Amino acid sequence: MTDHNAPLPNQLTERVGAKLRHARELRRWKRADVVAKLVGTPATNTLATWEYGTRLISLPRLLELCELYNLDAGPLIQQRSTENQQGNRYTVEEIGERDDWICGLCETPVDPIWRYPDPRAPSIDHIQPLSDHGTDTRDNVRMTHWGCNHERNASMELTTLDDARRSKQKVANVFERQFPEFAEQLVARLDPESMLRASRERHSPQRYRDRLARRIERFEREGR
Ligand SMILES: [Zn+2]
Repeated sequence: MTDHNAPLPNQLTERVGAKLRHARELRRWKRADVVAKLVGTPATNTLATWEYGTRLISLPRLLELCELYNLDAGPLIQQRSTENQQGNRYTVEEIGERDDWICGLCETPVDPIWRYPDPRAPSIDHIQPLSDHGTDTRDNVRMTHWGCNHERNASMELTTLDDARRSKQKVANVFERQFPEFAEQLVARLDPESMLRASRERHSPQRYRDRLARRIERFEREGR
């Protein structure tokens, strides 16, 4: 294992990880089968680090896996949170105070009275995602609404032209697998500069506000 995969100080994350691993093995799925079903197809190795508890799984990812494995997310979320806090150097309250209870994505206030699964609930966002070698430290976290955080994780923004090029390559790989006869034509149309522009627009505070409003409306109507 290389340095960026250095274990979290808290090895207790193994417990959530062990359940995830067990659920996958029950279905006789390989890690590669699972990551192929996840948003953005994380590296197979990333799934392994979650299962072995060497890296903390993000909340949106945990929910995604629970859905995939048909597990009750509630107890796992609680356990993750306990395990996280035991080895951790910050609390949600502390980060909330530091960030003036303003969501780092939509830039509107976060009220700590709301609780998950309400999309308004406070949530810690890892600026550089844990799945992308980010650290679980104060300088890499910010206060967000749970809904905004989930929105962001479902579609990570491109911040540099290099990000856009890497993203193009990923899309190209998918096209080549799924539509080999059109791949070249489709990929040729992807321009990293316009991808970067589109991503910046998609991740603007206004767009987060709009999408949070829709999530709240749906949550109030359907309780999800
Ligand atoms: Zn927000």
